[in-house]
Amino acid sequence: MLIGVLGGGQLGRMLALAGIPLGLRFRFFDPAAECPAAATGEHVRADWEDRAALETFAQGLDAATFEFENVPASTLAFLGSRVPVRPGPLALEKGQDRLDEKRFFESCGLSVHPYRSASTLDEFERATREIGLPCVAKTRRMGYDGKGQAVIRHASEITPAWHALGERPLLVEQFIPFESEASIIGVRGVGGEIRTYPLTANVHRGGILRVSSAPATGLDPSLERAAATHVRALLDALDYVGVLAIEFFVAQGRLLANEFAPRVHNSGHWTIEGACTSQFENHVRAVAGLPLGDASLRAGPCVMVNIIGERPDAQALLGVPGLHLHDYGKAARPGRKIGHATLLPPPAGWERHPAVAALLA
Ligand code: AMP
Repeated sequence: MLIGVLGGGQLGRMLALAGIPLGLRFRFFDPAAECPAAATGEHVRADWEDRAALETFAQGLDAATFEFENVPASTLAFLGSRVPVRPGPLALEKGQDRLDEKRFFESCGLSVHPYRSASTLDEFERATREIGLPCVAKTRRMGYDGKGQAVIRHASEITPAWHALGERPLLVEQFIPFESEASIIGVRGVGGEIRTYPLTANVHRGGILRVSSAPATGLDPSLERAAATHVRALLDALDYVGVLAIEFFVAQGRLLANEFAPRVHNSGHWTIEGACTSQFENHVRAVAGLPLGDASLRAGPCVMVNIIGERPDAQALLGVPGLHLHDYGKAARPGRKIGHATLLPPPAGWERHPAVAALLA
């Protein structure tokens, strides 16, 4: 089977690395000249709106998916008229606009923190008064990894933030002094079967995920059950096929849904070594119409640390017992995710091991 993937980043590369052993082949569509997934399949390089290139891309595909949620809806619709696209356009649509996303969470019974939408500076000012300070303003579309966001602590910051965020429609949220952050990943097959991974604890810095630990420890077990119920509700509501992740804040012992990703997710990278079937394998299984695999832990707790900005010394990192290195083959740039390391099991004091501490610095 030949699987088409819109987007050729590291997520696409890891999908192919999981799918190739199953006998699947991959073709990626990405406007970039060099992309991490090109090492693992064919690369069609063109703009998202290039219909002729999309037509070429679709030729001979058995199914298609995406690894990048800002794919234009029209691109997905065009591809969907030629080949089954999994998940379908509804998931992409709900996830592309932060306001639709919040309303969708509420319609599925998830709790969210107070929010308002604002399309003008006046509405933005009113929203901050209604929500109270501090609050967080986020562009409704095209934000990721903390980009397109501003924390407003004083009224004097409203106008500068409005300009800095591009004078675009915003979602204004209450700032949540959360105790911790957690995420859950679920996968749904073509026949509607669902598997959920253990709840994962996440630490972000500057809006970028730094560390994920699975399973999330120190949380009330009822939260894991609630998270699994929530991800099932979303998967069923969207008649979804593939992997979906929900990110939560844990505040006053409750889960508040922050956002969902209609794709494989950074907080699930630990599943490559740490779960019986990785999120990447389960996603390609679902997209290819194959039975899903066991999503439980393979061998106890594990920790994933993102490699951001600078390429580390592989000699030193691989000297850490139980460490698995994933280098995405991307050029190093400040703030850019270029790899990750998974510790299975995390050795005592893993944070202080010099090679790991250098990643966390
Ligand atoms: P997001 O792009 O919405 O995932 O935000 C990235 C990160 O910024 C989150 O994982 C949090 O660490 C932080 N953040 C976002 N929204 C809020 C909020 N309303 N209150 C406190 N922290 C937030």
